[in-house]
Amino acid sequence: MTKKKDKKKKKELELEMREQAMVEGILEGSPDGVGVVVVRLDCGCRKMAAVTKEGEPASKVIMYRDHAESICDKCKDDQGAFIRVIEQFIHWQDPQPDQALQEMISQKVLGTATPTTH
Ligand SMILES: [Zn+2]
Repeated sequence: MTKKKDKKKKKELELEMREQAMVEGILEGSPDGVGVVVVRLDCGCRKMAAVTKEGEPASKVIMYRDHAESICDKCKDDQGAFIRVIEQFIHWQDPQPDQALQEMISQKVLGTATPTTH
């Protein structure tokens, strides 16, 4: 595996304020959770779930939509299909797991060691 350090530095994905509140709520309800997978869909809905340090689900998958009582019809239909994912990343709880563990979990949960954007 080659690493190109001089390439443009990778985009940092950060939580939006509303996501932050959701993430905190999820982690509170998931004592085994070391982080929360955040999936942003093209329709504006969000999909989140806590993960354990083994990369297993630590909560059920939560879907929501800002300023709406429920998720959109598309999501009701396909449950936020992978093909519509715009961004996905894991927000780690403090203290963050070490780098190797983060990569292991990302690999398992997202299928890649780095956050993806389309
Ligand atoms: Zn949606």
